[in-house]
Amino acid sequence: MKIFVVNAGSSSLKYQLIDMDNEQVLCKGLCERIGVSGAISHKTSDGRKYEAETAMPTHSEAFEAVVYAMTQSDAKVIESFDEVSAIGHRIVQGGSIFKGSCIITPQALQDIDELGALAPLHNPAHVLAIKACIKTFGEEKPQVAVFDTSFHQTMPSKAYMFPIPYKYYEQYKVRKYGAHGTSHRFVSDRVAALEGKDKKDLKIITCHLGNGCSITAIKDGVCVDTSMGFTPLDGFMMGTRTGTLDPSAITFIAEKENLSPADLNRIFNKESGVLGVSGISNDNRDVAAAAAEGNERAALALEMQRYQIIKFIGSYAAAMNGVDAIVFTGGIGENDATLRKVVCDSLTYLGAYIDDNKNAIRGEEVKISTDDSKVNLYIIPTNEELAIARDTLALI
Ligand code: AMP
Repeated sequence: MKIFVVNAGSSSLKYQLIDMDNEQVLCKGLCERIGVSGAISHKTSDGRKYEAETAMPTHSEAFEAVVYAMTQSDAKVIESFDEVSAIGHRIVQGGSIFKGSCIITPQALQDIDELGALAPLHNPAHVLAIKACIKTFGEEKPQVAVFDTSFHQTMPSKAYMFPIPYKYYEQYKVRKYGAHGTSHRFVSDRVAALEGKDKKDLKIITCHLGNGCSITAIKDGVCVDTSMGFTPLDGFMMGTRTGTLDPSAITFIAEKENLSPADLNRIFNKESGVLGVSGISNDNRDVAAAAAEGNERAALALEMQRYQIIKFIGSYAAAMNGVDAIVFTGGIGENDATLRKVVCDSLTYLGAYIDDNKNAIRGEEVKISTDDSKVNLYIIPTNEELAIARDTLALI
């Protein structure tokens, strides 16, 4: 059985086709510049490629280009889209409505659309993609929504409420929703499997460290707290995002520079974080290279990010009154051995000890703690697409 996994943005569309008989990716690709011009790059697991520039005024034409790539191009992997059993969509915001993945019914589509108020950059694009799928593949092809937020719906109110006037929660649903939930769920499930234990019996801290970063506390098998908040801007310093800020620093800068809410959103989402402090790049590899050459702001940016990660892990160990396993995932978490070393060397008070030889391994699922460490430390490559495909298969 084959599942088509879609991660749609307003002008882009990432996809994978996964054969669920062996959970192998058959092909993956990206459509870009939808609504402007249009380009597709597509590659198969056996190394064939198809690239083309083709008009994509809407997501429908992008899906038609994907179907051509998958069924007719030199990099085709199936004869017809009839071989695809269902489509699984990554959806950024499920609000308080969606506590798990669901089949996309007309009501679910309407709810996802209305939740666009909480995720204006993402949910409207997801709705366009779902409607384009109905147009391109027909109403009979089952579609499933898998939400970044649903894993975090188990948080207690003391964790998800903000200390602001209650009316903003009542009127506008302003609260913590979290993000990266599919990744946190996937890697925490893997930890339980690797430990040979029921997830309910473990206290786990999962660190998803990529261009976006979040840390989640998982106790009794469910999320009890997470670092991202109302939007994926909260938490700690990321590639271009601030993480938590003193609100008065925001109003102070806004007044000094006469900035609009849109300006502030741009500055704190796209011009801050590691990029903002270092002035070099949002990519930790470039910043580490500059720091190695003596650039002090680059060194400061990395030091700040690592310090904030250490503090979040400590606060979640406190929130759960202990921790059994800590997981590193995402582009940075999986590949940056120095960050893992610096962070874990500050966790010896928890009885966590990193094994430097094991930590030298990159991008593989591996336990990196010493045999006598009281906390098991892991690198677990995340696979959100596979998690989406599994949920889709389970629901259909
Ligand atoms: P992601 O968003 O999960 O794809 O992660 C992307 C980020 O991973 C990049 O922006 C880099 O900062 C980071 N990254 C990837 N490889 C490495 C590496 N070898 N060392 C440090 N950071 C890395």
